[in-house]
Amino acid sequence: MRIFFGALGTETNTFAPLPTGLASFHERDYFPAGTHPGKPTFLSAPLHVLREKCLDTGWELIEGMIASAQPSGITTGQAYESLRDELLNDLRQALPVDMVILGMHGAMVAEGYDDCEGDILARVRDIVGPEVTVGAELDLHAHLSPLMVQKADVLVLYKEYPHTDTLPRARELVDLCIDKQRGKIVPVAALVDCEMIVPIHTTREPGLSIVKKIQGLEGKDGILSVSLAHGFATGDVPEMGTKVLVYSHGDVTKAQNLARSLADELIAMRDQLSIPFRTIDQALDEALAIEGGPVVLADRPDNPGSGAAGDATFVLSRLLEREVTNVALGPMWDPMAVRIAFDAGEGAQLMLRIGGKTSPYSGDPVDLFCKVLSLKENMAMTGLSGGQTQLGNCALVCANGIDIVLTSNRNQAMNMDLFTQLGCDLLIKKIVVVKSAQHFYASFSKIAKAVIYMGGRGAATPDWHTFTYNKISRPRWPLK
Ligand SMILES: [Zn+2]
Repeated sequence: MRIFFGALGTETNTFAPLPTGLASFHERDYFPAGTHPGKPTFLSAPLHVLREKCLDTGWELIEGMIASAQPSGITTGQAYESLRDELLNDLRQALPVDMVILGMHGAMVAEGYDDCEGDILARVRDIVGPEVTVGAELDLHAHLSPLMVQKADVLVLYKEYPHTDTLPRARELVDLCIDKQRGKIVPVAALVDCEMIVPIHTTREPGLSIVKKIQGLEGKDGILSVSLAHGFATGDVPEMGTKVLVYSHGDVTKAQNLARSLADELIAMRDQLSIPFRTIDQALDEALAIEGGPVVLADRPDNPGSGAAGDATFVLSRLLEREVTNVALGPMWDPMAVRIAFDAGEGAQLMLRIGGKTSPYSGDPVDLFCKVLSLKENMAMTGLSGGQTQLGNCALVCANGIDIVLTSNRNQAMNMDLFTQLGCDLLIKKIVVVKSAQHFYASFSKIAKAVIYMGGRGAATPDWHTFTYNKISRPRWPLK
């Protein structure tokens, strides 16, 4: 068997001010055909499964381009088309193949393309024809379009948020595709749109039980796979929304009935599923009222993982105004302040202008008399799948009882080592503010006395009614 793998993706916040250009891919993950390292990167989980599988079986694996970018605003047409065409060209060079497996996010939007993954899958299908099995692993924040489902034989989405299950989902995808190619199964799909947009935290109820339930349905009674696309609210495209995707073995009615009943269950519990966001002041009041610490506050509106810049100062400003101390905050994306801190050196005390540089979504910069506590060149943070994410040059500075991690690369907080590598002891802090929506939870919950999610201003605000949507389908609860 000859199997081709390639990956391309990002999560596009169509309201965010930063464009996603080619440099954004080169900065994060860009590996031309055959050059991907052994350690996992953002979309590479199926590759590692395939490498093992092919080693065991003697099958041939052809590794195409793998590229992903940190979530930002709309991808430039030039970046998308050049990377897509590189991937497709790698596939053409690899022909003939029996199977194509792709790693994609599912919510990439480019100039002229509202459904990049649908476009890629359609072109892949055109190249390989109907007999070759085509499968893809997707993020659960995908805009799962009928075109994607139609052009692929099997799509498997992550089930956990935070996404700690990229490898087990990749194994399921690869196994299903192998069974399909051998004629053991005939996957038929049903996709149901819940006409709402409801991201689900799977670290608490009812999200925990939903994951258990859909996993319990798989592999029984002719049901091959069940995926929930939570959807991605800050993508203004026609296919945005929460959806259920079911594959059965050859029985479309069975798949359709199950997808419909799961969708109805989700719709019935949508109020319960909604995340209780606090204002900054409510979050600070609640955190200060809790005995001990650290209390972890998630700065959802400035989550770079949802396309925000990561340099917003709204929380920092409020901490300063309220004279809250014994706080750690990060990562704050500010290459300019990092550069100045490096020039000043460890131990230096100086005025630094921090954050607020990207757009009005980031607020105003904050001028602080800081001490440079520590510096680290080319620092990496541990990612959810155990791989390393580059934060670039990083500085830990302290002002007014607040330790701030400044980074030269834009990224969300995924692991506590973004603080601890710089010598910041989180255990003795009262409050830890992380720029992240939910991925921080896997690591930070281990020490958190409590976790509080904040809403408010920002390019990734959960107050979606503050955006002007032009392209989404309606109804799309809770959007008007
Ligand atoms: Zn996601």
